[in-house]
Amino acid sequence: MSADKKTITFSIVVPVYNEVEILPELYHRVSGVMDDLGEPWELVIVDDGSSDGSTEGIRALAEKDKRVRPVIFARNFGHQIAITAGLDYARGQATVIMDADLQDPPEVIPELVDRWREGYEVVHGVRTYREGETPFKKFTAALFYRLINCITDIDIPLDVGDFRLLDRKAIDTINSMRERHRFLRGMAAWIGFRQVGVSYQRAARTVGKTKYPFSKMLRLALNAVTGFSYFPLQIATYFGFVCAGLSVLAIPLVILLRLIGNQAFFGQATTLIAVLFLGGVQLISLGILGEYVGRIYDEVKGRPLYIVREAPDADKIELEK
Ligand code: UDP
Ligand code: MG
Repeated sequence: MSADKKTITFSIVVPVYNEVEILPELYHRVSGVMDDLGEPWELVIVDDGSSDGSTEGIRALAEKDKRVRPVIFARNFGHQIAITAGLDYARGQATVIMDADLQDPPEVIPELVDRWREGYEVVHGVRTYREGETPFKKFTAALFYRLINCITDIDIPLDVGDFRLLDRKAIDTINSMRERHRFLRGMAAWIGFRQVGVSYQRAARTVGKTKYPFSKMLRLALNAVTGFSYFPLQIATYFGFVCAGLSVLAIPLVILLRLIGNQAFFGQATTLIAVLFLGGVQLISLGILGEYVGRIYDEVKGRPLYIVREAPDADKIELEK
């Protein structure tokens, strides 16, 4: 579509990792909803190193409809980075981030848009009901959001995923934050602006299975904690004070017991337990420190966040002329 940055009202950003079966329905449902809104829109599909033919599927969609703009990664960089790339390429005045598997129903977009028109810069989808997800996933997710709010100084709204609408101002702000280990829902909360939630029912995955195994969920959780809090680093300090306090109390106690001939605290077992316990605590603290140092190392290297094999550049250059 020959529209430039100023005239595209809506961008839809969709990260795709091996979702070939769903692409036609994704396009069909998104285009149906967006056409009804009656303003220029584009669909930025980020192919996050798919190997199941999604890449060709995305290219085919882009052939058919110029409003589909493919960003094709050189390899898999992960969901959060794929969304980041989508936001970098999005040109709309408002951008909606949604999953490819249609768990975030495109039919909710008009509601998000209504709130945006009321002046909210960040409109997030709040999942009231999650269909077709395991009790384990629901439980860990619920626990996770509450934990994050306890230990960080930002208020991430409960039960909010990455399905949200961002105003251009919010996108530009997020795009200027180039941290590597990204937790976008935290970043979207951190930037402030006027924020509001819209409730929706999270559908079950239409086809295929989740691309978020437990290991990836854990990594995301770690990014969230380390990205927004020093709390894990401080645990060692608190613990150190407790141990030091205990030993200050214990030393005179043990001396006293010995003087009166009591046999308590003799023997190797006591020593061994104390050494193992403190050794364990120290190693865990070192590991936590390592987690932060590793992240600093990653930032310092300054590598690009993602590598693009094919970008919708031709389109962009043509528009900017
Ligand atoms: N995804 C991605 N890169 C990855 C893993 C997932 O781009 O490495 C995409 C995936 O294609 C989907 C979205 O991220 O559009 C959410 O993934 P999924 O539905 O598997 O997560 P879940 O809903 O199970 O948490
Ligand atoms: Mg999903």
